[in-house]
Amino acid sequence: MKIAIYPGSFDPVTSGHLNIIRRAAKIFDRLIVCVMVNAGKHPMFTQEERVEMIRRVTEDLPNVEVDCSNALLAEYAREKGSCVIVKGLRAGSDFENEFQMALINHKINPGLDTMFLTAEHQYMYLSSSTVKELGSYDVDLSDFLPEQIIPDFKQRIQTIR
Ligand code: ADP
Repeated sequence: MKIAIYPGSFDPVTSGHLNIIRRAAKIFDRLIVCVMVNAGKHPMFTQEERVEMIRRVTEDLPNVEVDCSNALLAEYAREKGSCVIVKGLRAGSDFENEFQMALINHKINPGLDTMFLTAEHQYMYLSSSTVKELGSYDVDLSDFLPEQIIPDFKQRIQTIR
């Protein structure tokens, strides 16, 4: 069975993330979406909230499970019996950093490879941080966030404004 891990901050999960999840779920037998801690970021949603929102938007995908971890990704993959990390690759911005991460993860765990799925053109410039910036204004978010989580997002934005 081919188990893949899709790691990220998902703060919150965007339509771009969901597009990668749906495509990866067709390629692998089992896909584990893992909310990881990013020490450099101050999250808008807790890890548990992010996990719950991803579960909600992927409930129609039976081979997708959602987890969270504070472990090193290469070790987490080993624990889960996975030999593939899936990453989304957006225009320009992601390449350098993702290339470096892929090499480091492979060095730590030589049984682990990283596969990149190119972002769909309509999501090429979409990131969680862009959505958070837009959220402060009265903008229609339906092209950016899965509709099930838009109310959660709007509510949270109001509390931190
Ligand atoms: P963000 O950069 O939006 O904060 P994350 O750190 O949660 O996203 O990213 C998790 C993974 O999803 C990374 O591999 C990232 O490149 C990918 N990703 C993020 N946004 C998109 C998008 N719009 N299209 C495709 N992949 C994406």
